[in-house]
Amino acid sequence: MADNIVWHDHKITRAERSVNKNQKPCLLWFTGLSGSGKSTIANALDVALHNRGYHTFLLDGDNVRHGLCKDLGFSDEDRVENIRRIGEVSKLFTDAGLIVLSAFISPFTSDRLLVRNLMPSGEFIEVFMDTPLDTCEQRDPKGLYEKARAGEIRNFTGIDSPYEAPERPEVRLDTSVMSVDQCVDKLIGYLLERNLITQV
Ligand code: ADP
Repeated sequence: MADNIVWHDHKITRAERSVNKNQKPCLLWFTGLSGSGKSTIANALDVALHNRGYHTFLLDGDNVRHGLCKDLGFSDEDRVENIRRIGEVSKLFTDAGLIVLSAFISPFTSDRLLVRNLMPSGEFIEVFMDTPLDTCEQRDPKGLYEKARAGEIRNFTGIDSPYEAPERPEVRLDTSVMSVDQCVDKLIGYLLERNLITQV
């Protein structure tokens, strides 16, 4: 497919772009059930990083499905392609020197591993939203669990489609017992500890 396409080396390197931004790029990958708090926590962390002067970008499931991935559905095959595209886009944004926050259910271990392997070592930070299904279903912020239980939505993760929990995520958050602020503090603490950011 890509046989006749030659990769162009850019004159400005990835490292130079990040030096100009005075930050280290990385990808925070939020994975978890619908309603587990991915968007809420990713947005709150985005604000916290932005307020510290960092250059960030947030990629979110619903938004991407309106554009880049609007041709894809929720079959296993389409979910794999969805995550592959998002992984590639996330990587491009980190190449541009940004701290990227991606919030997608991403239920399959193999897909998350594919994205991890796209990234330079140490730049993929898997954030597992380990909120119990019960809590997610009670919250049901978009009314999707109710529809899935009624059989109006098929292949819904946690109901009739599996979620493969990460075994060794870099960060684990359970929003049934942690507040938004506590989750953000834990993530900021992790980034500081790893020297990915320096502003406390
Ligand atoms: P997801 O992106 O994983 O589908 P959302 O962030 O859209 O999840 O929804 C989580 C819902 O749970 C929101 O309505 C949010 O206000 C609510 N919520 C309650 N407590 C928390 C908490 N501690 N952390 C995150 N979200 C919480």
